[in-house]
Amino acid sequence: MHWLFGDQLGPHFAGPGEDGPARDAPLLMVEARSVFRRRRFHRAKAHLVLSAMRHRAAELGDRVTYVRAGTYREGLERAARGRPVTVHHPTSRRALRLVRGLPGVTVGPARGFLVPMADFAGWADGHGGRRLRQEDFYHWVRRGHGLLMDGGEPAGGRWNLDHDNREPPPRDTAALEVGRPYRPREDDIDDEVRHDLDRWERDGDVSFVGRDGPRLFPATRAEARRALRRFVTHRLATFGPYEDAMLAGDPVMSHSLLSSSLNLGLLDPAECVGEAEKAWRAGRAPLNSVEGFVRQIAGWREYVWQLYWYFGEDYRDSNALGHTAPLPDWWNDLDADAVRANCLRTVLAQVRDTGWTHHIPRLMILGSHALQRGWDPAAVTDWFHRCFVDGYDWVMLPNVVGMSQYADGGRMTTKPYTSGGAYVHRMSDLCGPCDYRPGDRTGAHACPYTAGYWAFLDRHRDRLAGNQRVARPVRQLDRLADLAEVREQERERGDAPP
Ligand code: FAD
Repeated sequence: MHWLFGDQLGPHFAGPGEDGPARDAPLLMVEARSVFRRRRFHRAKAHLVLSAMRHRAAELGDRVTYVRAGTYREGLERAARGRPVTVHHPTSRRALRLVRGLPGVTVGPARGFLVPMADFAGWADGHGGRRLRQEDFYHWVRRGHGLLMDGGEPAGGRWNLDHDNREPPPRDTAALEVGRPYRPREDDIDDEVRHDLDRWERDGDVSFVGRDGPRLFPATRAEARRALRRFVTHRLATFGPYEDAMLAGDPVMSHSLLSSSLNLGLLDPAECVGEAEKAWRAGRAPLNSVEGFVRQIAGWREYVWQLYWYFGEDYRDSNALGHTAPLPDWWNDLDADAVRANCLRTVLAQVRDTGWTHHIPRLMILGSHALQRGWDPAAVTDWFHRCFVDGYDWVMLPNVVGMSQYADGGRMTTKPYTSGGAYVHRMSDLCGPCDYRPGDRTGAHACPYTAGYWAFLDRHRDRLAGNQRVARPVRQLDRLADLAEVREQERERGDAPP
C-alpha cells in the first residue's frame, strides 16, 4: 500500500516511478481528527484541506482506502492491517518522526519540489560556512533546471529584474485592471465537509477561528489547473510591477493565489514555472513579470523548503531577540473590528474572512507588528500556521522565525523586516483614510508602525548597530528629540489593539 498525506494530492504523488509506488498499488489516506484537535485552525483552512482530501479519495475510487480515525497511527493500523506501506517523505518533522517510527513503513524521497534535499545539502555545504544567500541559490536552480536561460546566460541578460518591479500602486484606482482570479464552485463534498465541521464544533470536539465563507481555493487538480491557466493567461503579465503594492479594495491584485494548490500537492512547481516561461517565450507576458513569478517559486518557495530541513530541529526554538510576550486575544481571535489602524484592521479582516493575504501584508503589516510588539516568535509562527490556508510547518518556520521575526539572528535574512508608516503609505492606499498619520511618532495621531519602528530599533540598538543595513536608522535614534516620549507611549500601548 502507498500512503498519501493530505498535502500529497496531485498525480505526481500517486504515480509510479523509481522511488514511487508500484503501478496501480492500492492507496491509503488517513483523515486524522487529532490534527484539528491539537490547534485552533482557521475554519476555511480546515474546510479546504478536508475538501481536497475527500475530493481526491472520490477521484481515486476503489484504489484508495480512506480512513477517518482519531490519529494517523490508528488509521494506518486499521487500513494496512500489517501489510507493508510506502510513503513519500512527509513535509513536517513531526510527520517524518511518526512514519519513521511505524513498523512496516518505508519512507521514499520527497516529491513536489524541484531540488532533491541531498543536492541542496551539497550546494549549501559547498559554501564552506559562508552565509547562504537566496539569490545565489536561485541562480543555481535556474542553471540546473534550464529555467529562463538562453544558453548559459539568464534570459534577457539579467538574473533579477526587481528594479522594474516593486512599484507603488497606481494612484486614483481602487483595483488593478486585470482579469479576476479563478474561484471554484462548491459541490456536495463541500456541503458534507461543512456539515461535519459544524458538528465537530457543536460537539465541542474542535474549535476554529475565522469566518467560513464559500471555499475560495482549489480542492482538486482540475480546479488548480484552471487557476494556473487563468493566472498565466490573464494576470501574469501584470504580476511584476505591483508585486509589493497593497490596495484595500483589491487584496489579490495580480498575485497568483496558487500557494495553497502547490502546498496541497495539487500542482507541481515545475509545471507552474514552465507555463510562465512558455507565456514569455510566446510574447504573452513581459520578462519582469515572468522572472518575478519564477523567482517566487523556483527561488523563494524552494529555498524555504530546503532551509526547513537544512537548519535542523532547533531552528524552531530560535529567539535571538529574546521576545517573549504572548499574543493578545484580539489578535488570536482575528478581531479586526477592535483595531483602529486602517492597515492592520484591513489586513486582519482579510485573514479573518479568507485565510489569505499576499506576502507584503504578511511581512510588513502582520509580521512587522508582531516584531515591533516583541511577541514570542514561536507563538507568531503557530498563529500564521493556523490562520493561513497555505500554512504548513515547513513553510512557516523559515518565513516567520527567519524572514519575519528575525528570531534566527540573521541566518535567513540580512536585516529585520519592519518599517515605519512611511513604507506602508508609499506602497498602499491604506494610510489615506486612517486616524493615524505615518509621519507622527508621538501624540494622538502617532502611527503605531512609525512609533513601533523606532521603539524596536531602540530596544535592540546594541545588536543592530553592527548591522550595515540598519546601522543608519540606529544612529538616527540619538537625534530623535522625542525618543523618551516614544518609549513611554509604547510602554503604555502594551499589547492593546492599535
Ligand atoms: P504569489 O505572490 O503569486 O507567488 C507565487 C508563489 O510563490 C506562491 O504561490 C508560493 O508558492 C511561492 N512563494 C513566494 N514566496 C514564498 C515564500 N517566501 N515561501 C514559500 N513560497 C513562496 N507561503 C506559503 O505558501 N505558505 C505560508 O504559510 C506562508 N507564510 C508566510 C508567512 C510570512 C510571514 C511571509 C512573509 C510569507 C509567507 N508565505 C507563505 C510566502 C508568501 O507570502 C505566500 O506564498 C504568498 O503570499 C501566497 O500567495 P500567492 O499564491 O498569490 O503568491
